[in-house]
Amino acid sequence: LVSPDSRASATPMIEQFIEIKAANADSLLFYRMGDFYELFFGDAEIAARTLGITLTKRGQHLGRDIPMAGVPVHAANDYLQKLIAAGHRVAVCEQVEDPAEAKKRGGKTLVRRDVTRLVTPGTITEENILEPGEPNWLLAVGRVKGEADPALAWIDISTGAFRTAMSGSDRLLSDILRIDPREILVPQSLFEDAAFRPVWDALGRTANPQPAALFDSASAGERICRALSVSTLDGFGQFSRAELSAMGGVVAWVEKTQLGARVPLSPPQREEGASTLFIDAATRASLELTRTSAGSRDGSLLKVIDRTVTGPGARLLAERLAAPLTDPDRIVRRQRSVTFLRQESALCDELRTVLRGLPDMMRALSRLSLGRGGPRDIGAIRTALEATAALVERLGEAALPEELETAEKALRALPPNLARLLGKALAYDLPLLARDGGFVAEGFDEELDAQRSLASDSRRVIAAMQADLAAETAIKALKIRHNNMLGYYIEVPSSHGVKLTEGDAKARFIHRQTMANAMRFTTTELAELESRIADAGGKALMIETAIFERLTAAVLEETDALRAGADALAVIDVSVGLAQLAEAENWSAPTIDESLTFEVECGRHPVVEAALRAQQGDAFIANDCLLSPPEGANAGALWLLTGPNMGGKSTFLRQNALIAILAQMGSHVPATAAHIGIVDRLFSRVGASDDLARGRSTFMVEMVETAAILNQAGERSLVILDEIGRGTSTFDGLSIAWATAEHLHETNRCRAIFATHFHEMTALAETLSRLANVTMRVKEMEGEVIFLHQVGKGAADRSYGVQVARLAGLPKSVLARAKTVLDRLEAEGTSGSGAAKLVDDLPLFSAAVRQVETEGRAKAAINPGQNAIAEMLDGIEPDDLTPREALDALYRLKKSL
Ligand code: ADP
Repeated sequence: LVSPDSRASATPMIEQFIEIKAANADSLLFYRMGDFYELFFGDAEIAARTLGITLTKRGQHLGRDIPMAGVPVHAANDYLQKLIAAGHRVAVCEQVEDPAEAKKRGGKTLVRRDVTRLVTPGTITEENILEPGEPNWLLAVGRVKGEADPALAWIDISTGAFRTAMSGSDRLLSDILRIDPREILVPQSLFEDAAFRPVWDALGRTANPQPAALFDSASAGERICRALSVSTLDGFGQFSRAELSAMGGVVAWVEKTQLGARVPLSPPQREEGASTLFIDAATRASLELTRTSAGSRDGSLLKVIDRTVTGPGARLLAERLAAPLTDPDRIVRRQRSVTFLRQESALCDELRTVLRGLPDMMRALSRLSLGRGGPRDIGAIRTALEATAALVERLGEAALPEELETAEKALRALPPNLARLLGKALAYDLPLLARDGGFVAEGFDEELDAQRSLASDSRRVIAAMQADLAAETAIKALKIRHNNMLGYYIEVPSSHGVKLTEGDAKARFIHRQTMANAMRFTTTELAELESRIADAGGKALMIETAIFERLTAAVLEETDALRAGADALAVIDVSVGLAQLAEAENWSAPTIDESLTFEVECGRHPVVEAALRAQQGDAFIANDCLLSPPEGANAGALWLLTGPNMGGKSTFLRQNALIAILAQMGSHVPATAAHIGIVDRLFSRVGASDDLARGRSTFMVEMVETAAILNQAGERSLVILDEIGRGTSTFDGLSIAWATAEHLHETNRCRAIFATHFHEMTALAETLSRLANVTMRVKEMEGEVIFLHQVGKGAADRSYGVQVARLAGLPKSVLARAKTVLDRLEAEGTSGSGAAKLVDDLPLFSAAVRQVETEGRAKAAINPGQNAIAEMLDGIEPDDLTPREALDALYRLKKSL
């Protein structure tokens, strides 16, 4: 497309397009043409596909039609949103001179165009594109040659938040997933590094490789200083070179996409790796903290605990949930706010009423600072300032815990002058754009008021003039009208036109236009009046624009105070929300300390509980969990949990991990009491997340994840393992599970719950002193199994697989046969020779079926496929089957009949 000869033969417009496109090759180019943004060539095809808009053509290039698609300028934001959501970047190319200017330069010269904005998923600020309750992080990865560990830096330009942290090659993915950025800038070399390939694969489209120059750590310091308007970074802490490289990269990208507009960046906050609970990628996904494994917010823990009423509050809550703390003091500080507000329900309600109406101050501020703001953004600041005045008053009456007191102070420090200024300056109803005018309140500016009344007076004068003229000419139907072509004009029906074109009138009424049934005129007075009106309107708008600039400057002057105020409001919103949640759901404040204690009394799984309630099913059964070091031991306990499928094992495992997370994010927890000694790393291996797309079998994934846990878990870790070893044959599986439990107990020495269907493992309690056997209790009644969902001491004596299969609807004949096989196996033991003997001893399936048949309970016709069926059945482990797999097996069986 951009070869020299392709340019030579292009029309001037296409030539201009090609040139601009070449400079923005990795973006879709929105090329402004009148009221449309048009896309050409490949861009048009992508846009048509993604947006579902028509693909047409416009002229030819090199003998071929040029594909084209267009979106109207007024609706461009919606389309941008869709393209950005699909992971594209868009360069918006505007006309940058008046068409008249271009004409002056001669003949066919094109209007100059240039890219005025690059819109990328990580750099949007528009209210209607942003999710109110979600941060919009742009993240850069930095790495320095010769240093192993990569670093991260991330910015949300919609709020100005700026963070950085060291990462590690083994934890890069989990760190990135914790931050959950919309766009990730990766140095080209790192992107191509085979060792990191799986990370970028897992991140997909969001990973955006960029040339090394963007991440140059040597020039980064200067660039960051410039962006923050400071002369040195020393005041913000010590940054490693990798961190500088990442910070430089992310700042450079902001500069590049915002084309020089200034983003109100907060000083960079350095996150110490050890200050947050490390949750590895698999665990984060399987616990469904902020999103379910299918990717939706509904059904996630966040959704269930979110009672915030503002966007910034929702964002802060999500951030806290994604990164629980490890410092007991900081955790308790947050927890005290929740505890305090729980006791003050009236205060809670009042705070919430005020918060509910609050606009997103930081995002408004950010747009104003980028020159993309409008009167409504200033209005948002006004509303927030006015509302907080009431909050401060109310909070001042209470004896607040530390965190809330700090918040109150920040709100108290909000500039009263600014509140007064905005209150006086802004009208009630505000237009979106400053150029629409009409947003300055009456009485704020004398000159503006004068111009405005001149304009409205003039309209009155016109009405009077119309009446006078009608009387004077004796044409009752005479009207003074206005259109864009003529401006103001006098209109009379054609039949009366003659009266004005003859005699005295002729000198006074200047003919403008003759229509089919009307004639149009003007007079000197009318023309004068018109220019006065236009003048007044223009002057009024000029004054308003100047006032807008002044107000914007006044707001930006207070950026720091406003940011602190916005943060304080978010903290209050989160605390109020958690307090109301805890009160409504009967949660309790956990004790947090540096011990290795893990005691949960009557714990519940908030998401499963909410789901059961929604289905109006059974009540959730609460369960204790005690993983504290047993008497005399200096490491936590390991619970070996047995019980049938569907008994509630996974639910129990997860609920304890969630309780640890909630406790460490500073929330109360779904339990009657809890005491959690800080967990530094949380690992889980639950559910079979197939990774077949990457060529790994279920078993392989399970082993990779287990290996990660055994290699990394330490004394402070919490580990939950579900059904290790189920993906292979019984003996293999049992031996792996056995050895894993021993390793956890002896080497990792972490607090852990290990769910298994290998009852043989309960024998480990004899040799491993900190291992305790617990089981999900069930009741058997008349051959039916009833799940009690209760965790009790001891081991399950059997797995009830056959009963569960019955619940799933397996045919009676298969169940009866399975029962016979099971009884025999249990009698003989499961050794290899036992099983071989079994084949000899047991009557073939067909015989068994026949027996059932004769009893009149099955009518299946038996045919020569029977042997095959027996073999297939032999290969089935009812205990290992999900109901779905059981059903599939059945279909296969039927097919081979
Ligand atoms: P398992 O892992 O043992 O196969 P799950 O944990 O998946 O069992 O639980 C199966 C179902 O049982 C859940 O979907 C839930 O509806 C119900 N359940 C689990 N635990 C409880 C409980 N403590 N109270 C009530 N219902 C529960």
